[in-house]
Amino acid sequence: MNFARRFEDHGVLITGGARGIGEATARRLAAEGARVLIADVDADQAARTAESIPGAESIGCDVADRTAVETAVAYAVERFGTLDVLVNNAFSCSPDTPLLEDQPDDTWYRDLDICLTGAFRCARAAVPHLAASGRGAIVNIGSVNAEQSFGNHAYSAAKAGLASLTRTLAADLSPRGVRVNQINPGTIRTRAWAGREAGLEALSRVYPLGRVGEPEDIAAAAAFLASRDAAWVTGTTLRVDGGLLAVNTAFAQAVGED
Ligand code: NDP
Repeated sequence: MNFARRFEDHGVLITGGARGIGEATARRLAAEGARVLIADVDADQAARTAESIPGAESIGCDVADRTAVETAVAYAVERFGTLDVLVNNAFSCSPDTPLLEDQPDDTWYRDLDICLTGAFRCARAAVPHLAASGRGAIVNIGSVNAEQSFGNHAYSAAKAGLASLTRTLAADLSPRGVRVNQINPGTIRTRAWAGREAGLEALSRVYPLGRVGEPEDIAAAAAFLASRDAAWVTGTTLRVDGGLLAVNTAFAQAVGED
């Protein structure tokens, strides 16, 4: 597919960009002219992915580690001469224990540390460069879990917290010309769903648009929010969820059976 070249001469950093939504976003922004740094805790996969994307670079980076985050930001600026876009995409989602009283502290803290504090760490490190660019943008990858209960206490709370961080950063950074927005995806066909075709098929029937999402659906929205097409958009959360949260399917079915 031929895309517009909205990111010519842009430097982009994507956390968790080695696979899934992060990889698709890296491919989309690179196809639009960006130089992309894939910063992922899986350094080997990050390197393999970067090798397959023209102009892309990679670095091993755990967003839980402040020094690693600052090193990744410095590396992007060194390689590209500019950092214009940050995509906070890395995440952790721990399974809930069957009984709440058995839920340990460490998985709670881990999910918040990666999903929420990790995004804060990356924003803090990147903001001087994003502000200097004059067209800086942060795109946070949230989840429909931020808005409705789908399980995963800590992950969901972290993604809801991320939406709050999106708004406060947007307010804080607007005077410096940096826009901050969030995407809340519904079910996206990535590694978490590998080998679960029957489950995805069943889920497809719940989605008003009749299918689950593909990583490219989120990449397209991320490209919009990061681009000049969204020049007057900041502090917002965009659902990219096939209509999932717009419809109460159980209610609609019950009414239909009435
Ligand atoms: P994937 O598991 O496909 O890829 C995530 C990547 O992030 C992996 O390479 C992973 O490395 C890396 N990563 C994990 N922890 C860290 C860390 N601490 N620092 C840096 N990188 C890290 O994820 P998805 O593409 O499915 O999800 C991407 C985003 O989309 C997440 O924010 C997720 O919450 C959100 N989302 C996804 C949905 C879905 O259905 N897929 C639905 C709603 C939201 P490793 O493999 O070593 O763990």
